[in-house]
Amino acid sequence: MKKYNVGIIGATGMVGQRFATLLENHPWFNVVALAASPRSAGKPYKDAIKKWLMAKPMPESMKDMIILNATDDVEKIAGMVDFVFCAVDMNKDEIKALEERYAKAECPVVSNNSAHRHTDDVPMILPELNADHAKIIPEQRKRLGTKRGFIAVKPNCSLQGYVPALFPLHKEFGVKDVVVCTYQAISGAGKTFESFPEIVDNVIPFIGGEEEKSEKEPLKIWGKINGSVIEDAKTPNFTAQCIRVPVSDGHMGAVFARFEKKPTKEEILNIWKNYAGRAQELELPSAPKHFLNYFEEDNMPQPKLNRDLENGMAISIGRLREDSQFDYKFVCLSHNTLRGAAGGAVLMAELLCAEGYMD
Ligand code: NAP
Repeated sequence: MKKYNVGIIGATGMVGQRFATLLENHPWFNVVALAASPRSAGKPYKDAIKKWLMAKPMPESMKDMIILNATDDVEKIAGMVDFVFCAVDMNKDEIKALEERYAKAECPVVSNNSAHRHTDDVPMILPELNADHAKIIPEQRKRLGTKRGFIAVKPNCSLQGYVPALFPLHKEFGVKDVVVCTYQAISGAGKTFESFPEIVDNVIPFIGGEEEKSEKEPLKIWGKINGSVIEDAKTPNFTAQCIRVPVSDGHMGAVFARFEKKPTKEEILNIWKNYAGRAQELELPSAPKHFLNYFEEDNMPQPKLNRDLENGMAISIGRLREDSQFDYKFVCLSHNTLRGAAGGAVLMAELLCAEGYMD
């Protein structure tokens, strides 16, 4: 595989720092541009960072890179890189416009932001599930008037346990109704225990916008390309409650599911055990070898013990049992800043490179 030069837009933020550590020794990607707000532009990366939040140290190769201005240097950055990763804290319309500016400058954008998730020709990809949605990219390029430039987004972190667990069951058994309660880590709010003392010994039963994302985004992942758009699926019906809990990393989900045709427990476990997606077929560098991992122990999975499974890219599932009101209930766990944020975006970028969309 050839090497791709990449940029990180929002490099000083929490997700940006995660990108920096994940890309440091990446076999295909070489970071040549870091960008952030005008507050950071012009400073070396090591001085622009207010606080380094990663367990791994800041990459030596990036410490002295001068931060570019994410909004003023679009053309310059587009000329330096093959594509950019984007994770910025701006309002939705500003992000939409900024990402389109990069795309129109012929610089593909692999985005962590939610702004374009419901733009109907922007693929929202979880590489093990709906890699085929990348086929919409030529249609998006037509709309944007670009040859190379396009935007691809990753889905929200909250759904990255229960959607992978349910998606492979749908084809054979038809997932009909799903109730999910998520227990979400504080890093999803860009926080640590130090910066979020009110979460210690506490639970906060509200995360702005999260329940809507958790209910709506799965329908796009389940959707189908029709002409120049991705049409959302009509089912399954999802209802969600999202709760912030005092955990540093790792979102849990407690799931109840009803099927068109009720599977046996063994059938579900077999599908999970044997499931492999396009990311595994292509043996992408960040893909977990085994995507869906079932734990037999009653008290597993747990964020502290299992979130780092396969570098935080694998999904952990447990406690599958029949339910008195639905067909089955189970719990699931995914690492929210790895699989759910920067890691998922790096994996999607690998997929898009392997499928030829970045050439
Ligand atoms: P963050 O820590 O607040 O970082 C925000 C980044 O955006 C910084 O690099 C900041 O640069 C830059 N920025 C802010 N205002 C800007 C402007 N006007 N122009 C250009 N750059 C600007 O936020 P985060 O937690 O990394 O989240 C970033 C994005 O990823 C958000 O859209 C968030 O919803 C999404 N996301 C986050 C997570 C998570 O787990 N945290 C998960 C999934 C998705 P300065 O340092 O110069 O201000």
